[in-house]
Amino acid sequence: MITDSIVQAQTITEWLIEAERQIKARSDYLTQLDAAIGDGDHGINMRRGFEAVGKALAGQSDTSPPGRTLIVAGKTLVATVGGASGPLWGSALRRAGRSLGDAEGFDPEQLAAALDAALEGVVELGAAAPGDKTMVDALTPATRALHDALNSGASLPEGLRAAAEAARIGAEATVPMQARKGRASYLGERSIGHQDPGATSAAIIVAALSDSVARRG
Ligand code: ADP
Ligand code: MG
Repeated sequence: MITDSIVQAQTITEWLIEAERQIKARSDYLTQLDAAIGDGDHGINMRRGFEAVGKALAGQSDTSPPGRTLIVAGKTLVATVGGASGPLWGSALRRAGRSLGDAEGFDPEQLAAALDAALEGVVELGAAAPGDKTMVDALTPATRALHDALNSGASLPEGLRAAAEAARIGAEATVPMQARKGRASYLGERSIGHQDPGATSAAIIVAALSDSVARRG
């Protein structure tokens, strides 16, 4: 049981390291998306933030509870990312961390609840609704897909694969939307026809969770 818990704790660290890797690999693409409807810094922001998270986690003990790891990561993002995405992801990860608490491990439902808490943190801070062309448009279908999959008996890796796919489709679905929140909203109708950078990075971060859990089997 303890071994299981520690394995799960490491999964969160692995997720964040995998997110750093995937964000770095897509950083230029994220910046291009933001150049079209924002100020062209999203890839730079996310990369800087997740690199700092990687460094912060390298200094942490392997047995740190996963909830604490997420809180450290969230605080690191707030401290290192200047753009809107820093406080939003900071809030998301801190909420997820608080939801997991100090337990050594978690079950699939607790992870799903932690992702719900992350989304709630984003919505509380940014007040975006689905359809506003933000990261909420990737995270909302992802959390729903994970719950649906778990409720129909899927394993956690299967559920997260469904969540990652839903997030990817959700991000693509932002193309025809008009932005109603954040910098892109200043463009009004000219924001239509471009994929939202924050929804795209959110889909990458959910995919990183799916990949890191799948690797553990
Ligand atoms: P900034 O807009 O300050 O330059 P970033 O470029 O890092 O920050 O992040 C932009 C992304 O942040 C957007 O693509 C969008 O997905 C997300 N975003 C902006 N405002 C909000 C909000 N109020 N709620 C949710 N997400 C938002
Ligand atoms: Mg920007």
